[in-house]
Amino acid sequence: MKRIDLHIHTTASDGTATPEEVVREASRIGLAAIAITDHDTAAGYERAAAEAEKTGLEVVPGIEISTKYGGAVHILGYYIDVASPALQEVLDWIVHDRDERNEKMCELMRADGIDITYGEMRERFGEVIGRPHFAEILIERGLAKDMRDAFDRYVEKGRKYYQGRHFLSIERSIELIRAAGGTAVLAHPFQYRLDDAGLRDLIEHCMESGLEGMECRYSGYDAAMSGYLEQLAAEYGLLMTGGSDFHGENKKDIALGDGRGGLNVPHSFLEQLRARRGKS
Ligand code: AMP
Ligand code: ZN
Ligand code: FE
Ligand code: FE
Repeated sequence: MKRIDLHIHTTASDGTATPEEVVREASRIGLAAIAITDHDTAAGYERAAAEAEKTGLEVVPGIEISTKYGGAVHILGYYIDVASPALQEVLDWIVHDRDERNEKMCELMRADGIDITYGEMRERFGEVIGRPHFAEILIERGLAKDMRDAFDRYVEKGRKYYQGRHFLSIERSIELIRAAGGTAVLAHPFQYRLDDAGLRDLIEHCMESGLEGMECRYSGYDAAMSGYLEQLAAEYGLLMTGGSDFHGENKKDIALGDGRGGLNVPHSFLEQLRARRGKS
């Protein structure tokens, strides 16, 4: 069976592998297709696509947008037009909002004697900077032992360096993905800790805004969990997608294409996604 991975972060956001490295690794392990789904940016796609020309790997342009719906809900977008001005305008706003939040986090750290400027972080980590990058600095400076420790003690909500940022609504995110020609998919449905009724409410709310798919296979979801999601997707007429949420060294236990082991996302998921797009 041809396998794929439709949920991948690169150095364009908070992954540690470059788009080129991701493509080479995906080819090496024999994946048939991947999607680059960085947080709030599509900047990694062109680089991945250029590298993939050497290997024949299929690369789908994607994005992952964080929204607020009670708690956090993530929406994936596939086959977005990465050059869409409407998309770029909103992504620029998100990056600007991140910058403001990040400057505040930097100041709190500096006030504690940690010698780091936001300019230095921008230089080193690029445009879309998130809390995992702050965690990386804290680990480097010997203030935390690993990512989890850094989040638990410093950058998780309520901890000393945490600062909030603003989020798009679910409606706005899905509309944006659609306006950029993309297909909107609900990411990792079990991460929101909803019961069956809560998840159905969320799905129905998203579908009112134009949701077309749901991520049914994901790192750590066992056969029973994926089976339940696939049944829900079928019931609602949603496409099924799947991916690892690979972040390189920032999520060491997640392997490209394989997740926490046995991920198995079939190429048929992508074929169905393309078939649906062909009809609309
Ligand atoms: P930000 O969007 O910059 O506030 O950072 C959120 C990102 O940090 C998420 O997308 C996750 O990748 C990561 N993250 C959030 N909570 C944790 C945690 N407890 N441990 C490790 N990574 C986390
Ligand atoms: Zn991330
Ligand atoms: Fe996510
Ligand atoms: Fe993700």
